[in-house]
Amino acid sequence: MPNPTADRCPLCARPTAPDHAPFCSRGCRDRDLLNWLGDGYRLPGPPAENPLDRGEEPPL
Ligand SMILES: [Zn+2]
Repeated sequence: MPNPTADRCPLCARPTAPDHAPFCSRGCRDRDLLNWLGDGYRLPGPPAENPLDRGEEPPL
């Protein structure tokens, strides 16, 4: 059973291009990079930026 979300650009959901995988184009790839650099994404575990997140409480 094919996965409809596979081979889709994570930014615009168009089919990916092999040259720019997993994105559909260089534009989306660059935009994704800018999102990372500009903190556009929230990572689940930021590296020691939050004083409340220093391993005082072990995750369950
Ligand atoms: Zn795209």
